[in-house]
Amino acid sequence: MGLKVYIDGQLVEKEDAKISVFDHGVLYGDGVFEGIRAYNGKVFRMKKHIDRLYDSAAAIELAVPINKQELADAIEQTLKANKLTDAYIRVIVTRGSGNLGLNPRTCRQPCIIIITDSITLYPVELYENGMHIITAATVRNHPNALDPKIKSMNYLNNILAKIEALNAGKMEAVMMNSNGYVAECTGDNIFIVKDGIINTPPSSAGILMGITRGVVIELTAKSGFQLFESNLTRYDLYSADECFLTGTAAELIPVVNIDGRQLGTGKPGPITLTLLDEFHKLVRK
Ligand code: PMP
Repeated sequence: MGLKVYIDGQLVEKEDAKISVFDHGVLYGDGVFEGIRAYNGKVFRMKKHIDRLYDSAAAIELAVPINKQELADAIEQTLKANKLTDAYIRVIVTRGSGNLGLNPRTCRQPCIIIITDSITLYPVELYENGMHIITAATVRNHPNALDPKIKSMNYLNNILAKIEALNAGKMEAVMMNSNGYVAECTGDNIFIVKDGIINTPPSSAGILMGITRGVVIELTAKSGFQLFESNLTRYDLYSADECFLTGTAAELIPVVNIDGRQLGTGKPGPITLTLLDEFHKLVRK
């Protein structure tokens, strides 16, 4: 028996996991989602992910048809059905099927999908030697247009920057906001280290408030490092001693080169490695 996918309360075989072509998630990217991980049979920061999903839904006036506890139970049920203890979990809530117009009120019922799968990571070599990334010409969505805090099904802004990275032979791109300050990468938050002090863009830079970002900020305090949330420029990136990215899928990954400029020694730095070690201790314990 193959992978089972949860759709609207039913666990169905992967091949039968289908939704309507009239779903506004398909027609307009109208919906929200979460990417979550389970380690050793436990869903990591489940409450934070579920809270963020409901906040994203509230921001687009989408009423999730089940409550938070029911969603948590559905996630556990899907993991169990697939006998997965270490997994990547994708929760999607679409607007549901309606007519061809934009009007979300033609959609009868939002559709809830839960996919659990094994984790595909960046190559291990990148964790040891660090990534090379670029800065993208594509500007991150303006918060007054589509706020990056909403984890919506419309990721074209990020995909355009990802294409820039791929065309440059790199795996990730950092995006600036419309004021020219660093926002975030296409699927990760960004941190830099300069003279022993850690900096990361603030909420006001127009970013997804990453849950891994929050975990790393906690680990920073625990390890006795100083951290500031501040607006950063391309200059700050190029002159950094260390840099790393955080995200549910990537966890914490070192960056050693941005737009061809080598950072520090060109190897993952000591603060990055300390935090990476702390992160592994936290999730793999
Ligand atoms: N920024 C963007 C644009 C993302 O898509 C993600 C990954 N979902 C992140 C940051 C990291 O967020 P988290 O740590 O919650 O996975």
